[in-house]
Amino acid sequence: MFHVKHNFPHVLLINPWISDFAAYNFWIKPLGLLNITSLLRNNGFRVTLIDCLDSLIRTRRYGDGKFFKTKIEKPLPLKSVPRNYSQYGIPEEMLLKRFSMLEEKPDIVGITSGMTYWYPGVFKLVEITRKFFMNVPIILGGIYATLCYEHAKKHSGVDVVFNGKDEIEVLRLVSDLTNEELITHNSKLSIDNLPYPAFDLYRKLDYVCVSTSTGCPLQCTYCASAFLTKGYSRRDPVAVVDEIEYWTIKHQVKNIAFYDDALLIEPSKHFIPMMREMIKRGIHCSFHVPNAIHIKEIGEDVADLLFRGGFKTIRLGFETSNEGTQIETGGKVNNQEFQQAIKYLTRAGYPGEEIGVYLIAGLPGQRADEVKEGIALVRDAGANPMLVEYSPIPHTQLFEKAKKMSQFDLENEPLFHNNSILPCQWDGFTMGDYRRLKEGLRRK
Ligand code: SF4
Repeated sequence: MFHVKHNFPHVLLINPWISDFAAYNFWIKPLGLLNITSLLRNNGFRVTLIDCLDSLIRTRRYGDGKFFKTKIEKPLPLKSVPRNYSQYGIPEEMLLKRFSMLEEKPDIVGITSGMTYWYPGVFKLVEITRKFFMNVPIILGGIYATLCYEHAKKHSGVDVVFNGKDEIEVLRLVSDLTNEELITHNSKLSIDNLPYPAFDLYRKLDYVCVSTSTGCPLQCTYCASAFLTKGYSRRDPVAVVDEIEYWTIKHQVKNIAFYDDALLIEPSKHFIPMMREMIKRGIHCSFHVPNAIHIKEIGEDVADLLFRGGFKTIRLGFETSNEGTQIETGGKVNNQEFQQAIKYLTRAGYPGEEIGVYLIAGLPGQRADEVKEGIALVRDAGANPMLVEYSPIPHTQLFEKAKKMSQFDLENEPLFHNNSILPCQWDGFTMGDYRRLKEGLRRK
């Protein structure tokens, strides 16, 4: 137990930098951290939020854009990769300035984390925070902390690594560490009565992110959704529309990114009533689905509501056209369902080039030709193929196979999960093959 003051503890919550070869802000916001911030605030805690990624240098039409970046030394395990490596987000001096402007030292610091291979940015933040606020306990949570719990415990230098799966557990942890009694109890919290995420703490809001559900009922072998969430549950569709209306009216937000893993599952119970309500209330906003939506669920009515409802960035999770791989990896969609969905989307009004279709490149044991065939099938259907390099994720079914196939030590070094290095490259799918495929897409 840490010894801290007992009245109105002050919690500093920080979203760290990204450290990588490349990063682009496709509506990135630390939604989990913002939910926790709101819950703490509702429970009487004083909160300060610092988002190291709140640093867009150029914003595009829909609020996405480039991060400010600072070139940094490559970590030793990535030294041989012939690309520049950068820290994305606010300059370090700005972080120190934000620290020194705080009216009062925090009683506790909470840091979140993203992709497993972004941990150098997290460690740097921990080091700076530790130096500045000596003896203040630091909790580390988020995706890296959950997926690489032992690595984070051993190397991050924080006091507590949190690998729980919901916000109330974090609340309880902070309450224990600060000896502060909670107003909210377990029984009072559900997916439908969480306070809205603390987006109001941003000085400028180009977009917000909304989750209408948690988890996913499917189990694709390359995906960690099941491990990272406590099962699949969804919010009341009308409550989601209330939230969207709140952001668009109270904060004049014009762009909303859905963060769901499974936005379209059972559309007649969720997506369809939600979008009908949105249209009925006359909510005008641009919607984006950077996480991709389930192709199988795109019928005529869903396609029509996507188009009429204002979905501007359509991304479909097709992954592969190889029927064997489709079945082996979980069977979320087949080629006929894909072709049918593209017909519905085109008929609804989407030009083919606006229908982005993700294809995974570099799955363990995958041949380059499989991706080439996928590209051809997507093009034949009239849509826009987009390659996504495979990233091996701990606690997924495919991770074991990836470890066996990879030349890199995926088990002990999360930096090797970085999809930019094509972690499962082999004679049948080399980096050269990958570049040729990319080049072919550009030349189209
Ligand atoms: S459908 Fe999407 S979110 Fe669900 S398990 Fe598969 S990849 Fe993950």
